[in-house]
Amino acid sequence: MKKVEDYVRSIPDFPEEGIIFRDITSVLQDADGLQLAVDSMQNLVKDLDIDVVVGTESRGFIFGVPIAYNLHKPFVPVRKKGKLPCETLAMEYDLEYGSAEIEIHTDAIKPGQKVVIVDDLIATGGTIEAAVKLVEELGGEVVKIIFLMELAGLKGRERLKGYDVASVICYD
Ligand code: 5GP
Repeated sequence: MKKVEDYVRSIPDFPEEGIIFRDITSVLQDADGLQLAVDSMQNLVKDLDIDVVVGTESRGFIFGVPIAYNLHKPFVPVRKKGKLPCETLAMEYDLEYGSAEIEIHTDAIKPGQKVVIVDDLIATGGTIEAAVKLVEELGGEVVKIIFLMELAGLKGRERLKGYDVASVICYD
């Protein structure tokens, strides 16, 4: 039986020299790989009582939507700045060079709702830390944060101390 990690393609020196990019297109383009990845992530939240699934642009959408659909819960996208058409709340976060901004619709989460945040991969944790702040500013409670992959060496978990963080595949 193949495991999820068997479907991930590792690309050396992408997008720049020295980085090993963990490519999920090889997971998605295989029917078994896609099903296994979604099922494995969904399994991480199986015992939780949740109200909303939040996914971050863009690979967080790929996994967040099928999980929300399967659980019959709403899906809320956190998008890059300037993409959402209604009233938004924005959060800036640091990148290796410069900064970026993500947004959420202000009506997307109601105070007290229990939220699971989904992304494909955690590296430094900056993206998800910003997403957590957006959810909490709207009054949501982040009950779990899940990833398909975790780059443990970049210590993203340390930025998310106090939160329940889980990943399916862990790379050193
Ligand atoms: P962080 O904010 O944790 O440093 O970076 C995580 C974000 O960068 C995620 O949204 C993820 O999609 C993207 N990312 C960074 N490195 C990789 C990688 O090797 N593979 C994939 N699929 N995404 C990556």
